[in-house]
Amino acid sequence: MRLILEIWERRQTLPAAFVVAALVGCAAPTASPPLTAEPPSPDTLGPSAAARRHMVVAANPYAAEAGLSVLNAGGSALDAAIAAQLVLNLVEPQSSGIGGGAFIMHYRASDGAVEAYDGRETAPAALDAGPFLTSAGKPRAFNDVVAGGLSVGVPGLVRVLELAHRDHGRMPWAALFEPAIRLAETGFPVSPRLHQTIAGDRHLNRLPAARGYFFGRDRKPLPIGRMLRNPAFAATLRLIAEQGPGAFYEGPIARDIVAAVRGSRVNPGVMAAADLAGYRAVKREPVCAPYRVWQVCGMPPPSSGGIAVAQVLGILQHFSYDARSAVPSPSFAHFLAEAERLAFADRAQYVGDSDFVPVPVQALVEPRYLAERARLVSPTRAMGVAKAGDPLGAKASTFAPDLHEGGVSTTHISVVDGDGNAVSMTSTIESAFGSRLMVRGFLLNNQMTDFTIQARGAPAVANAVGPRKRPRSSMAPTLAFRDGKLVLVIGSPGGSRIIGYVAQAVVASLEGDFAMASAVAQPHVLNRNGRTELEEGTGLDGLAHALRELGHEVEMTEMTSGLHGIRVRDVVLDGAADPRREGVAAGN
Ligand code: GLU
Repeated sequence: MRLILEIWERRQTLPAAFVVAALVGCAAPTASPPLTAEPPSPDTLGPSAAARRHMVVAANPYAAEAGLSVLNAGGSALDAAIAAQLVLNLVEPQSSGIGGGAFIMHYRASDGAVEAYDGRETAPAALDAGPFLTSAGKPRAFNDVVAGGLSVGVPGLVRVLELAHRDHGRMPWAALFEPAIRLAETGFPVSPRLHQTIAGDRHLNRLPAARGYFFGRDRKPLPIGRMLRNPAFAATLRLIAEQGPGAFYEGPIARDIVAAVRGSRVNPGVMAAADLAGYRAVKREPVCAPYRVWQVCGMPPPSSGGIAVAQVLGILQHFSYDARSAVPSPSFAHFLAEAERLAFADRAQYVGDSDFVPVPVQALVEPRYLAERARLVSPTRAMGVAKAGDPLGAKASTFAPDLHEGGVSTTHISVVDGDGNAVSMTSTIESAFGSRLMVRGFLLNNQMTDFTIQARGAPAVANAVGPRKRPRSSMAPTLAFRDGKLVLVIGSPGGSRIIGYVAQAVVASLEGDFAMASAVAQPHVLNRNGRTELEEGTGLDGLAHALRELGHEVEMTEMTSGLHGIRVRDVVLDGAADPRREGVAAGN
């Protein structure tokens, strides 16, 4: 436990150290880790790490350690991701878990196959927009609908882990549950971030099961370092480990989920046993597009992440700017913001669940289309609010644009195993603590709030709520390649800001050639087709001035990304976790 707390303390000092360096102008990107010919070093674990064999980067030291122990035991990247994910469910319960969903990008080194697995939550068959509207037909506020049963989608995580494990697992399913079961039984210390998130939440103590778990007998949020056991979760995991994934979707666990959702005193929902029994994870065609000398692959709909990141990069490559500056240069910041405006305009117009609405995925990332979009960017003047393009050369969508935004929780896991296989997995229960409904030791998601709820009679949008539909996501688990070789595994939480966080980090890592620790720490610049957001407290005042001169409306704001990445160099894996959260890289 002392090691874990020490790592947290070190993590806490990192952003400050970075800011000081940035302010005095000496935060030159650190060089890539030295290449040595020595045999694999013993395990390394820290905010950043260099490894020669395999590596996992995750949001909590316990999770990274669990993943590493699986890799050390001969498990595949996918095995390690499962073990890390289950531990995250326990130690970072505000962000992800079996009550939520995930997207997995997988790379198989033996034949270069890139695969995309969709474990997004789905709307119950009886769900429509009605309960999300006031009696006057206006959308209810997010804060009114987030807690309780209404916002809960049918969880997809267990099924998507099963699907990917069937394809890429090397260790037995049940073995991957052991680290999480053991830790749930013995207990783990409450992390600073978990404590702060409990203390800052206004819904958690309205729901009895969550209140009982996250608050002490004194009714105060669990303090940092308090040992927390979760025997109910251990028992849940044991059932799913021993009986298989079906034990989550049918039987006592499923019955309790349905009872919690329908019986919630706060916003009762409509999920039925058949919704759970019928849930399917789906293998989809990844979105891959060129970016300068690299090929970048990401998640297709129902996520907007893969398309939007590909568009941002595909537009950026038409411009030259200084990508090597530790603090974003004015030229880079301007082109990045403009490319993002264009990508967010298309996202708002075209992207929804492609099983229900036509999404012109390939047309949206076609180089010719992106060249046309890039011609809308002036090097000397901000464009203001961008309009969606017309990728099919005719009216491609009958939908109205919408600018619905996501939450700020979620988690990302990056793994590379000894054979060179990789997993980039972003996992979520949507906002912090999801719906706040807790069943058998885990939280249920509030993913249904990722649908766009519109006033009665308003023009239809692609991301409208509908029975069995999957809400649009921004999650962007990403893999990048050069000449067919894997070079980067990365992703982040952050709601709709994920797209900008990931695109910027890809540029910093590949074009800037930053060490991963510097790439994920770079102060953020982001535009979601409105104001240009700059990360506050990172010394970007000069940049703000330069952007205002170009006509940007600039806002300084907190931007808590959780970028976890691995840069794959010739003989070294260079991994790092975002200094803004509590993650670590672990490898050997
Ligand atoms: N629910 C969001 C999405 O799927 C992610 C939320 C977050 O990152 O906090 O896009």
